[in-house]
Amino acid sequence: MKKTNNKERTEPAGITTSYNPVSRTMTILDSSGNTIQDFSQRDIEYPTRVVFEIESFCSSGCKYCSEGKDTKCRRNIPKERLVELIDEVEEMKVHELTLRGGEATEHPYFNEVWDYASKREISTPNLITNGMALDKKRVDKILANPNSKLIVSLDGFKETNSINRNPKQYDIVMSWLPQAIKEHPEQLVVLSCLYRQNYNEVPKFAKFLAELGIGHYHLPPLKRLGRSEMADENFVSLNEMNTLQRKLEEIAGEFNGFRPVISCAELEKFAENKTKDIPVPLFNEMYYGSGMKITPEGNIMVNRGIMFTDRFKSEINTPVCLEPLGNIKNKSLKQIWKESRDLRLQQEKIANKHYAYYLGWLNSLK
Ligand code: SF4
Repeated sequence: MKKTNNKERTEPAGITTSYNPVSRTMTILDSSGNTIQDFSQRDIEYPTRVVFEIESFCSSGCKYCSEGKDTKCRRNIPKERLVELIDEVEEMKVHELTLRGGEATEHPYFNEVWDYASKREISTPNLITNGMALDKKRVDKILANPNSKLIVSLDGFKETNSINRNPKQYDIVMSWLPQAIKEHPEQLVVLSCLYRQNYNEVPKFAKFLAELGIGHYHLPPLKRLGRSEMADENFVSLNEMNTLQRKLEEIAGEFNGFRPVISCAELEKFAENKTKDIPVPLFNEMYYGSGMKITPEGNIMVNRGIMFTDRFKSEINTPVCLEPLGNIKNKSLKQIWKESRDLRLQQEKIANKHYAYYLGWLNSLK
């Protein structure tokens, strides 16, 4: 087998998932160490990524949000339970452990929980944040482990970002981001949700980020997520995404180390080579069932299970589509993962079948 500095996990099925904690890329190797182009969730013993939604509240109040809307009834996963779950994630050799919300930094014990997560040896810690409670000093502390990542959402320059996000967010984030990029260039990720209102501005914003020295710029397209049912006219077509990806690659040609990616499984760029060196967020998007998330109520959902909105549920009329895999109150993560295999496979089928609806390319499921 080839020698790498990656973190590797060999599965009973014989394949190895090889994860690079710096670039957040993952390659799949067969039993002879050769790169292979495909795998199924049947081939992995445990998830490759676990997302903890540790706190339901969020300070940003984005219009398209599927989370963080519930300001009256805040819920969070208790600190003691989080510590046990983090240990379990490490035992399962999960490649990525992501903390998010709502807004994770609003959790009353965020600092202690992050500190605990970022000292684990196997699972790489990621924080997804709106950045509103951060300053440069706090960012430095969060990024003390050189493998950890901070993923901050900004949809464009101030005016555009304020269309759907908190108008105060842009200035707060820009008060710490440029210096943080200089000092931690590989540890910061800027994430822009892609939709009609920021589509034309993205190349200019991408160039601005590249000039600041950012390496990782991720653009997930707007989707029908959770309770979010943003107006259908805001979705961007596949054709437009392909055009934009080409423009972003031209910018990447000018700036060494700038790696912009639109996280969409259908993109031309990924049509041939679906797994080799694909950034993990996209990887999980494509391989429904390779990750799972824990909600503030303790329910376990498969990543992309969040595609099943209330509207979807009412239209599809299939009982398995919104069902959680289990709840952490009475079972371990390992147990839930193992026992939910059939349900995950059924949900995968539904998710893959309706991917175009999920991305807004179809207005109806019929
Ligand atoms: S920052 Fe994220 S969690 Fe918070 S409201 Fe916006 S989209 Fe939702």
